[in-house]
Amino acid sequence: MKPEICLFCTKETAEGLHIFQAVICRECEGTLIRTDTTHPRYPEYVEKLKRIWPACEAGY
Ligand SMILES: [Zn+2]
Repeated sequence: MKPEICLFCTKETAEGLHIFQAVICRECEGTLIRTDTTHPRYPEYVEKLKRIWPACEAGY
């Protein structure tokens, strides 16, 4: 499997969570799941998700 670039940390990841054309590595997937909505970086994650997932925008 060819390495892909993680959407969040831009590191190469051989396996990760695929959302459309983007991939999120296991590490960032875990971070995202654990990140509380009040976390300072949460809006940043949401913004990144919005870029690849327009339906996400409608949900917020
Ligand atoms: Zn990552």
